[in-house]
Amino acid sequence: MSAPTQSMADRGLKSAAEIAIEKPHGTRIKYMGGCRCAECRRANTDYEKERAAARKTGDWNGIVPAGRARVHMLKLSKQGVGRRSVQAVTDIADSILHQIRSGTKLRIRARTERLILAVTKEMAADGALVDAAPTWKLINKLLAKGYTKSQIAIALGANTPALQIRQGKCEVRTAYEVARFYAQCKKCDFATAAKPSGELVLPAGTYSPRPGVLVHRMDA
Ligand SMILES: [Zn+2]
Repeated sequence: MSAPTQSMADRGLKSAAEIAIEKPHGTRIKYMGGCRCAECRRANTDYEKERAAARKTGDWNGIVPAGRARVHMLKLSKQGVGRRSVQAVTDIADSILHQIRSGTKLRIRARTERLILAVTKEMAADGALVDAAPTWKLINKLLAKGYTKSQIAIALGANTPALQIRQGKCEVRTAYEVARFYAQCKKCDFATAAKPSGELVLPAGTYSPRPGVLVHRMDA
């Protein structure tokens, strides 16, 4: 008799719709049973809000719609806080922020949402301090590609060729300028490096017709 396909009624259970029949309007169970009257819709919205509030207090990291983060980014943008500032403050990958903002990414991690919603205009002001570690990571990548510290300093708008970024904390402005310069360099495949990595300085009187071949000039 116990076929695996038995219905809820067979097992003595009532469906949400059945339970909802006896319930008053303005309850979530009535909404679950299919009622979409104003009172039941409000009851459901309140429930969702409470759940969202519970999520925010904890470190829940499930999937959430990206809409709220997107709206917040657009609001920050109107206040003069751009994507790069949000990137510098949150350390969320710029590509992800771009997708959220443009609306191509519809679902994000709850933690990502929390980080974005926590960004305020004050936090992201140019002079605000953020963790310098991600910025140093990019600088070190540039140095490895053959960029010099003075080249980076000048690209960041410094008047002196000394790279003045401390370990520990750096200004939001610096963080996003480094990120922007890195993006520019990456776009041209790091061809703008002062000392392209892998390029050999050839001995005097020689030339290299192709990699790995060194030819002495006859006229040298
Ligand atoms: Zn109702």
